[in-house]
Amino acid sequence: NRRIVLASRPTGAPTADNFRLEEVAVPALEEGQLLLRGQWLSLDPYMRGRMSDAPSYAPPVEIGGVMTGGVVSRVEASRHPEFKEGDLVMAYTGWQEYAVSDGTGVNKLPAGFAHPSHALGVLGMPGYTAYAGLIDIGQPRPGETVVVAAATGAVGSLVGQIAKLRGCHVVGIAGGAQKCEAAVKELGFDACIDHRAADFPEQLKAACPRGIDVYFENVGGAVLDAVFPLLNIHARVPVCGLIAHYNGGTLATDSAAILRRTLTQRMRVQGFIIFDYYVNRPDLHAAFQQEVGNWLKQGKLHYREDVVQGLENAPEAFMGLLQGKNFGKLVVKLD
Ligand code: NDP
Repeated sequence: NRRIVLASRPTGAPTADNFRLEEVAVPALEEGQLLLRGQWLSLDPYMRGRMSDAPSYAPPVEIGGVMTGGVVSRVEASRHPEFKEGDLVMAYTGWQEYAVSDGTGVNKLPAGFAHPSHALGVLGMPGYTAYAGLIDIGQPRPGETVVVAAATGAVGSLVGQIAKLRGCHVVGIAGGAQKCEAAVKELGFDACIDHRAADFPEQLKAACPRGIDVYFENVGGAVLDAVFPLLNIHARVPVCGLIAHYNGGTLATDSAAILRRTLTQRMRVQGFIIFDYYVNRPDLHAAFQQEVGNWLKQGKLHYREDVVQGLENAPEAFMGLLQGKNFGKLVVKLD
């Protein structure tokens, strides 16, 4: 069994020596346990937070501990009454090829699930994040302007497409011409602006002639600075992520200015952690599974994966995720 552990905590951007690849024996199964053989590992921005011991909504990975991560696995052997060999399951078993579990937190994929890796993306945590943040907090109405950054990523691509299905004018923000072109041509956004362009704020303003009604916040940094002056009265801002700041660096220096504008524009700025929605809103989760599942089947949603082969390549792929090197939902094929 190969696994990747946290070797040291990063200062700033993670580097290869923060990770260590180890080989360990697979333990024998006891009664009530099952052996999981990982098929797909999800790589997600939140993992940067787990590498740090700064205060957070979730405890950090210990030094020497297996890196946290959602994995779709096949049950290789079972001494557990509820699972049988061959079942496909999703569980947070981390960056490793095999895991032994007592079944806690192990969820079977529904029968007929076309692509197992979708349980880590469009039909899993990032998909529910897009759906809950946009529908419950963003509350987009037809004709309104919705802006989302990291527009071709796991969350952003879905936010924009759902907003389009709800009749909104959708403007994406992404890194580079290729991603911007895909956001318009593949995902059907009305426009997509490159945040690396020198005149990015002016281009964004031109793409939002009626201002911005919903800003789905994924990044912070210079993108937020360009968006904020364009927010309309009664704008809604679901605060989902601030990836531009995960490797450190300063947050906004003038926080009172943000609150002043929140007041004068009567805006609703609301942070959320999707975990709460899993616990408190099973109704919304069921609606998400049904609605997004149907749209996928009907071909109304485009979903792109960025597939990396082999556990050993997970650290480099993860470091790239924090720099925008991924194009679509980043997953590692394990077997
Ligand atoms: P993505 O697949 O979108 O990948 C991350 C993307 O972020 C990169 O590809 C890059 O896109 C963009 N990015 C990175 N650095 C910067 C920067 N400095 N400025 C602008 N863009 C940057 O990841 P996810 O869809 O999985 O996650 C998107 C966001 O949602 C993250 O902030 C994540 O933490 C958050 N999230 C929050 C959850 C919650 O419960 N609140 C749950 C899940 C995700 P580009 O090249 O286009 O700039």
